[in-house]
Amino acid sequence: MKQQGHFLLMNRSEFRDWLQKQKITRSINKLQVHHTASPNYATRKMKNGVAQQDPFTCLEGMRNYHVYTNKWRATGQNMTIMEDGRVAISLDRDLNQTPAGITNQNHGSICIEIIGNFDKNNDVMTNEQQQSIVHVYACLCEKLSIPVNTSHIVYHAWFTSSGIRLSDYTPGKSSKTCPGTNIWGQGNTVATANKGFIPAIKQELERLKNETVDQPMTANEKKAFEELKEQVASLNRKSIMQDIPDYAQPAIDALSKMKDKNGNPVLNTINGRSKDFYDIITVLFRAGLF
Ligand SMILES: [Zn+2]
Repeated sequence: MKQQGHFLLMNRSEFRDWLQKQKITRSINKLQVHHTASPNYATRKMKNGVAQQDPFTCLEGMRNYHVYTNKWRATGQNMTIMEDGRVAISLDRDLNQTPAGITNQNHGSICIEIIGNFDKNNDVMTNEQQQSIVHVYACLCEKLSIPVNTSHIVYHAWFTSSGIRLSDYTPGKSSKTCPGTNIWGQGNTVATANKGFIPAIKQELERLKNETVDQPMTANEKKAFEELKEQVASLNRKSIMQDIPDYAQPAIDALSKMKDKNGNPVLNTINGRSKDFYDIITVLFRAGLF
């Protein structure tokens, strides 16, 4: 996890924990799906599948455009999913702030931007990015109790430029092609979302639920646990000394002669005690305490 400038960048594996710790103070019931179109895999300078441009340069570039060209008060989106699967949180547009994603549709929404241009004949999404997208939406549905369907997880393309919901992506009526006419290698229609994206989120959500439930020990785990118990017992046995060590003999001799105020011996058991016992009485004896 790395914070720099106006963004917090984390790995997919860090996202769920981070999200669970966030205190959400506004009511959220919709998750928007966008692609950035620009920046994209070309501006990220991909070389053998790895972007050569620093992720923060890309993120701040987007923010600069939103703030200085669009004159918005902050980065438009709440979060961004990079081509390598890392997740960037906009610190100037945290989850408790309404995003600037779809005109008249931002209240109660989270805006998520996917880095890339997923219109036909453009970028081909990396596997890492796809896995992170599915994971991020599943985690948000889990945290915010959002139903996994196309009423609550919405593509930008399903709205007109004034923010009226259409029944589907409709060229000529839709404000944009966003998140791309070839996203998931399928397209941006409601039917393709119901075929690929929505079931993938449901499956991931199911996996997350099973992850948190305490499972009974498997046979292998039980075996490992029994071995561990045996090791601890063996360590305990080893610390017991069957014979009095030579260095402790003078202290034992002295203690053996001592009686308490009722005339009983102060030391009853002299053999089979721990090494710590013999060490301590030796130190006390050498210090002249008895
Ligand atoms: Zn969009």
